[in-house]
Amino acid sequence: LDIALNHAKDQPGLVAFYQQGQDESHQRELTILRDLPAALQQNQLFVVYQPKVDLQQQSCCSAEALIRWVHPELGFVPPDEFIQLAEHAGTIALVTEWMLSTVIAQLSVWYRQNKTIKVAVNLSAHDLTNPQLPDDIAALLKLHHLPASVLALEVTEGAVMQDPKQVIQILTRLRNMGIELAIDDFGTGQSSLAYLKQLPVHEVKIDRAFIKDIEHNQDDALIVSATTQLAHSLGLKVTAEGLENLAGLAKLQQYQCDTVQGYFFSKPLTSELFSEWLQQFSEKSPEWFEQESTS
Ligand code: C2E
Ligand code: MG
Ligand code: MG
Ligand code: MG
Repeated sequence: LDIALNHAKDQPGLVAFYQQGQDESHQRELTILRDLPAALQQNQLFVVYQPKVDLQQQSCCSAEALIRWVHPELGFVPPDEFIQLAEHAGTIALVTEWMLSTVIAQLSVWYRQNKTIKVAVNLSAHDLTNPQLPDDIAALLKLHHLPASVLALEVTEGAVMQDPKQVIQILTRLRNMGIELAIDDFGTGQSSLAYLKQLPVHEVKIDRAFIKDIEHNQDDALIVSATTQLAHSLGLKVTAEGLENLAGLAKLQQYQCDTVQGYFFSKPLTSELFSEWLQQFSEKSPEWFEQESTS
């Protein structure tokens, strides 16, 4: 921007253009933050579910819940964008609350249809500073007569680092309730697996950055293979995020990753489409894996 402004010294129009660009993005942020609370109340947001496939069982018994928002004027607003804004503005608790109650209500429907599916909800850094969180979740599960084992939670390393002592306390309470905990986006932060071992988590999710080129990139392949081995030796399960193709699947099977998530199996789906996907997958899951020998 400095260079641009320097060049633009004698061109006031160009300066105005840059300022306008800044004003526009500022305006967008204000609109998002202004409209989010009411949008949540009016159920303008919805949840999509992305299958997590168990490689050994060749079955799917879990999913990750991801939030979606189609704003009436702005159109689709990516979760990365509005969640970060809400986190800064201090309104993220509203999003988490909405997400937990929506997902748990859906889980109750599936549970009563005898579909045993575990769903993971993403928590933000700010949620892990809220000592009420475990009780709030317990109350929601009780309301729907659900065991805690239907719920999983994902947290990032960064969220834990902000105040490890308090966060570990909250995570320990959640774990003791019977909720499965995962470290999300593993490999993108600063922490080592040795450090993660001190956290009361069950699972490590290896970030998509290491998975997307795994069949070509020898370094990524090594990282995923070594991370999986070490995680297993520490008693942690491993999920690979963002698998898009068959060649990558073969690598992940070879490295004995436990579960895989990614467009290869399915994009995140609405609850209805996810139910249909589950049904189809349970009928012919081996076909997904057999394709391998023919490619
Ligand atoms: P995440 O928790 O790491 O979620 C995985 C993201 O990777 C999702 O993006 C998912 O759609 C995407 N993904 C999955 N498989 C593939 C693949 O094969 N290829 C590609 N290119 N992408 C894939 P999404 O839904 O846009 O969410 C982005 C991030 O926003 C999430 O990353 C999470 O950090 C945050 N987020 C989403 N929903 C929530 C929520 O309800 N609460 C909180 N706190 N954060 C959320
Ligand atoms: Mg996640
Ligand atoms: Mg992730
Ligand atoms: Mg992420």
